[in-house]
Amino acid sequence: AQRVVVVGAGMAGVQTAVALREQGFTGSVTLIGAEPHQPYDRPPLSKAVLLGKAEGSAFDVDFEALDIDLQLGREALGVRSGDHELDTETGPVPYDVLVIATGAEPIRLPGAEGVPGVHLLRTLDDAERLRPVLAQQHDIVVVGAGWIGAEFATAAREAGCAVTVVEAADRPLAGALPAEVAAPMVSWYADSGASLRTHARVEHVEPGAVVLDDGTRVPAGAVVVGIGARPATSWLAGSGIVLGAHREIVADDHLRTSEPDVYAVGDCASFPSGRYEERLLVHHWDNALQGPRTVAANIIGEAPLAYDPVPYFWSEQFGRFVQYVGHHAPADTTLWRGDPTGAAWTVCWLRETRLVALLAVGRPRDLAQGRRLIESGTPMNTELLTDPSRPLKSA
Ligand code: FAD
Repeated sequence: AQRVVVVGAGMAGVQTAVALREQGFTGSVTLIGAEPHQPYDRPPLSKAVLLGKAEGSAFDVDFEALDIDLQLGREALGVRSGDHELDTETGPVPYDVLVIATGAEPIRLPGAEGVPGVHLLRTLDDAERLRPVLAQQHDIVVVGAGWIGAEFATAAREAGCAVTVVEAADRPLAGALPAEVAAPMVSWYADSGASLRTHARVEHVEPGAVVLDDGTRVPAGAVVVGIGARPATSWLAGSGIVLGAHREIVADDHLRTSEPDVYAVGDCASFPSGRYEERLLVHHWDNALQGPRTVAANIIGEAPLAYDPVPYFWSEQFGRFVQYVGHHAPADTTLWRGDPTGAAWTVCWLRETRLVALLAVGRPRDLAQGRRLIESGTPMNTELLTDPSRPLKSA
């Protein structure tokens, strides 16, 4: 390939461009992004940037020195893979290889669109709009007790706001964790002074309040919606690129799409995991770091490299550092290390005798050792494993 065009200048797009250069690619690299800002990292947006403890989170990458042609504020509108062309609002861009890294966009709350005081949290612009809202210490209602909802609630409490989190499910993180693992997290909300209302469906939002379907009117100086994200792929309609059930790009194990010379990586794409024997759609930072290295290697190299990571993510919420590595299925066995009402504990998921996933709260050492045990597939001794005073690696 001589001309690589990367569309989407978030973590996955930037890392793809950088990895191409790091791995010795000498052709042209064009990185096209819709947002006007210098490419930036998203995790700080619900943490330091939101609280004004950091000005921004721009990536420390010298695009010019790497000879990456960075084109910001330019939205891609479509792909014509037969012609090897990307269409953008300012005209077509020819490519030899195209990498799609358009990420995800937050799901909007039906009916809340255009209501004043309703916010999402995905972009730097969103975070900058929310900073003064926190400073004014409004009553804040957070819709959704997922990762973003929990992190936003944490920041809002730290800023001194009154916070109510409304969640339709019976618990926080219902989409990510089983009930018994989420159960100890319920008290984190109350301990931080936030009120968590589960089984609470939003009926509608009006200026100054969120009205629940049981008629409760929750006062809201501002509303932050954190009900999930979906792949930003609507612009690919008609391109022939196959999308999956979540509107994500269906990539193969080399992160190639259904169209020739088109790859997809990061939040916008799913891939078949050989390790877990199922298709994974990962919306976390580490996947947007690791996937690009495989894409770059496959663009440059002769022998295609399969992408088969052990997924990893972290969250900082209510004064706790929560980390998850691997991937578990409902049938896996759950084992606890430590007391879940305490400050630090770990949950392990085993398939037969092998560790497949681990959630660590305030136990980063378990995470690091667990990651290696998952990678190596070493059989575990469950009696030793459940003793939190022993290193995980000795089990
Ligand atoms: P994105 O970051 O979404 O980047 C995609 C880019 O493509 C965007 O800039 C978008 O504007 C652009 N784009 C979209 N469509 C087009 C188009 N048609 N033309 C041109 N450009 C386009 N993960 C963790 O593991 N831990 C955390 O603590 C954590 N915290 C987070 C906090 C927040 C507030 C958010 C929003 C996410 C957080 N994440 C976290 C998730 C992590 O940030 C994402 O997984 C990661 O950003 C994915 O990178 P990406 O490049 O695939 O997508």
